[in-house]
Amino acid sequence: MSATAQVLSFVDFEDDDDAFDAARKTHQTLIDTQERMGMMLDVMPMGLLIHTEQGILFANQEACRMLEVTNEAAVGQHLLDFVAQNQFTSVMEQFAASFRTCDMHSQETRLAHSSGEDLHIKLISCKLPWHGNPVIQVLLQDITDLKKTELKLRLLSQRDPLTGTYNRRFAMHEAEALLSAPSSQSLGVLIIDADHFKAVNDTYGHAAGDAALIALAEIGTELTSMYPGEQLAPFCRFGGEEFVALLPGCDVAQARDFAEQLRQRVERRRIVDPDGDFSITVSIGVSTAQPGTGFDAALARADKALYAAKAAGRNRVEIG
Ligand code: GH3
Ligand code: MG
Ligand code: MG
Repeated sequence: MSATAQVLSFVDFEDDDDAFDAARKTHQTLIDTQERMGMMLDVMPMGLLIHTEQGILFANQEACRMLEVTNEAAVGQHLLDFVAQNQFTSVMEQFAASFRTCDMHSQETRLAHSSGEDLHIKLISCKLPWHGNPVIQVLLQDITDLKKTELKLRLLSQRDPLTGTYNRRFAMHEAEALLSAPSSQSLGVLIIDADHFKAVNDTYGHAAGDAALIALAEIGTELTSMYPGEQLAPFCRFGGEEFVALLPGCDVAQARDFAEQLRQRVERRRIVDPDGDFSITVSIGVSTAQPGTGFDAALARADKALYAAKAAGRNRVEIG
């Protein structure tokens, strides 16, 4: 080989080597990127499934945690194998819609969990724009803690902190809902007011007064919880020493009987106090609200009846 050819082949060789090196680096970069993408998907704080109509192709770590399976065990199974029983239809519908179009679909649903407590999830799915066997990506966001907080807040917003009964806001909302429901019936309305309660506080102290209100709430809640029928009959603290009971499907006579039972139970209950046990009495105004009518009018009639009960000597039931 001539010296020139030798130089050329050396140069060529060098060029080839550079090109080879560059290609190798590019190839490695692609492999690294792919691996990193895989790692990224695996460690992302949201469940990810790649799902065909037949089953799961890929599940990241978070999805495996939620489904309580290993990565290998997840592959081949269907997400429907993991959803809570009564969520089948809605998840199936979302999947069918996702396989049809590339739109994003989402819903809140639940996964069955070995703890016995369902996992609340937000399920987001969307078709991937690939040819061939249709594939969807499914994101699973664990919203269990959020749901628990939401429930706690909802309960707090409905309850009276001293007695634990429903509060005025709940009573008003529930009454309107009961009266406007398509299958609504006559609603019994009771306003219950503790008699001479200022004197109870003055005689036994505010703490004893609180204990008496708690006892009254206990009696009312126990009685309403035994109230027949499917619907909730809430006992609510309306404010101060005043309570309201709502009795769905109740006529005037039944409401009066219920009120009389409540009045007698309160009268019989002894409130334990270091300064000597005592009891309280209540006056009760009763009315009924008819379906489709407003609650305010029935409440006003019950209130008027309450004042009549007070005027007639207290510890009694009057109909408005
Ligand atoms: P009446 O028979 O006419 O209803 O007389 P009353 O004394 O019960 O009525 P009044 O409206 O004059 O007084 C209500 C009292 O209820 C005064 C108030 O201090 C007391 N009260 C209201 N809320 C509470 C509470 O949360 N705890 C206690 N201990 N007392 C309360
Ligand atoms: Mg009072
Ligand atoms: Mg009062």
